[in-house]
Amino acid sequence: MCDICTKHSNRDKIWYLNYENYLFDKIFPTPEEQEKAKQAMISTFSDTEWRYSEPEFVRSPEFLQDRANKGFGSQIITREECMDILRVAEEATKREDSMIVVGHCPCRLVIDGVRDYCCIGFGMPVTMSMEIAYGRLPREGLTEFGGAEWRELRNDLRKGAKVPLTLTEAEELMKEWEKKGLWHLVMSRGRMPLVEAICNCERRYCTYYRHRDHYGIKEYCLKGHYVARIDPLACTNCGACVEQCQFGAIHSSQIAGKTNIDILKCFGCGLCRNACAYDAISLVPRVEIPATRNLW
Ligand code: SF4
Ligand code: SF4
Repeated sequence: MCDICTKHSNRDKIWYLNYENYLFDKIFPTPEEQEKAKQAMISTFSDTEWRYSEPEFVRSPEFLQDRANKGFGSQIITREECMDILRVAEEATKREDSMIVVGHCPCRLVIDGVRDYCCIGFGMPVTMSMEIAYGRLPREGLTEFGGAEWRELRNDLRKGAKVPLTLTEAEELMKEWEKKGLWHLVMSRGRMPLVEAICNCERRYCTYYRHRDHYGIKEYCLKGHYVARIDPLACTNCGACVEQCQFGAIHSSQIAGKTNIDILKCFGCGLCRNACAYDAISLVPRVEIPATRNLW
């Protein structure tokens, strides 16, 4: 089990498949704790996210470590796991009268100034963030799903974001994003272990991965629960998988006529599988390989 599972799961479930980790009122059981979480979110919006564009701010390892200690973190997941997560999230959003949406990627906004809609958020944090952004609580509209207020809000949001997102739409989007070379991360934004978003990103933009890569703060982007393996009998050494890997884990030797995955570098994103026309790549559980079972 990874570090987050050890701390935040039960019954041997992976933390992001544990239903209780989707429920805001389980993580913050009292009204006081809920209000505190909301105020923390408002302060993150006003004091932190803006400052992400200030280089000195994101270059402070102490500051970033402090944020990780406060519950910012993520883990690489496969496309199949994304759908498992969204199924659990859908159940939780029904219970909480919340929703699943696609919003823009904050990392891309601060790095290149573009609004790319490739982040899926769900649950109470997304609902609260809309309340903060729109000055009212969509839940009020959601209790009468299809009611006038909700329709109005949804129309506003549809200018940029998909609200609410269905599972079928999500699956199609995941495939599109993978074709563009985006990996998937499940994350908690300061409320670990609350599972609240799937970001679809890449090396150039993903600030969570960059915090790990640049400063060694691995909590921001744990390796996934799987590791890729090549079947040498099926592999033709075509090399197509090599450029899919943004973690430098695959090497194709034309001299040796072999392609290998360095399992110590593999993050388990699964993108290399998509490139293989020979079905030579599979994903195996990280914990089943002695060399990787403690590498997160
Ligand atoms: S080897 Fe494949 S699964 Fe592993 S990190 Fe690279 S692309 Fe992702
Ligand atoms: S894409 Fe498939 S066949 Fe080609 S080198 Fe990679 S594993 Fe081998």
